Amino acid sequence: MKELLERLKEEVLVCDGATGTMLIENGMPEGVCPEEWAIKNRLVLSKLHKAYVGAGADMITSNTFGANAIKLRRFNLQKQAVDINKRAVEIAKDAAGGKAYVLGDVGPTGEYLKPAGDLESDEMLEVFIEQIKALESAGVDAIIIETMSDAEELKRAIMAAKESTGLPLIASMTFQKTGEKGFRTTSGVTIPQFVDESLLAGCDVIGTNCSLTISDMVDVVSGMRNLGTAFLLAQPNAGMPKLVGERTVYEQSADEFKESVPALIKAGANIIGGCCGTTPEHTRAIKTTI
Ligand SMILES: [Zn+2]
Repeated sequence: MKELLERLKEEVLVCDGATGTMLIENGMPEGVCPEEWAIKNRLVLSKLHKAYVGAGADMITSNTFGANAIKLRRFNLQKQAVDINKRAVEIAKDAAGGKAYVLGDVGPTGEYLKPAGDLESDEMLEVFIEQIKALESAGVDAIIIETMSDAEELKRAIMAAKESTGLPLIASMTFQKTGEKGFRTTSGVTIPQFVDESLLAGCDVIGTNCSLTISDMVDVVSGMRNLGTAFLLAQPNAGMPKLVGERTVYEQSADEFKESVPALIKAGANIIGGCCGTTPEHTRAIKTTI
């Protein structure tokens, strides 16, 4: 396969959609460690990856969002971090079958650095280095750091990637619409702050995922486009979450989702995928629109 960054100079690429909400759809119980569950139920994960590739995804994401030792501690699985990352990539690569790139997924630790939380800066950095090295040694094509909302945590994750690999690096933060103040992450990071810092730190692709609908993301992407010249990624949710009983559901259909894809491309997105609630049908809708 031609190198990912080379292809982005010429075409808009499609990234897969949600993993978490799809695993729940396919029988994953509440409260388990999603990464461990999917290794034990590898056929479910493999089938999902293959469905995304079949729907036209040019790249799929390894099921390693929470596979950092800090987050795995909640399940007493911190010692298995390397193994979990490697096995998840193995499943993704096998499902991709050389037809799609595999992005090594790095999500937040779920904890805060001192003084806001208990975490030492070095510990956070080391945990990200451990995960990213494991992803690279398992053979991912790029690293994607995503759903970040804290600037300090993002900085450590980018630093860890830069220290441990030369792979293409994607960094994505999750923004909320905050009325007159525009878009900010929950910890207050603005779009210009994010663009400046992530480009300065050497990211190849920057973008936004989760929290927003596709039509809101058009504004975020054009905001980023006006500030810099990096490749841009957008992974919107399938509409806004609704609570039905005890379940969170996302109801925007692939057809509704599709309507905003041209605007997202026009705004400057180079990679379009989906976050919570999106399905292979949404992936197909993106692909056919492109
Ligand atoms: Zn999401």
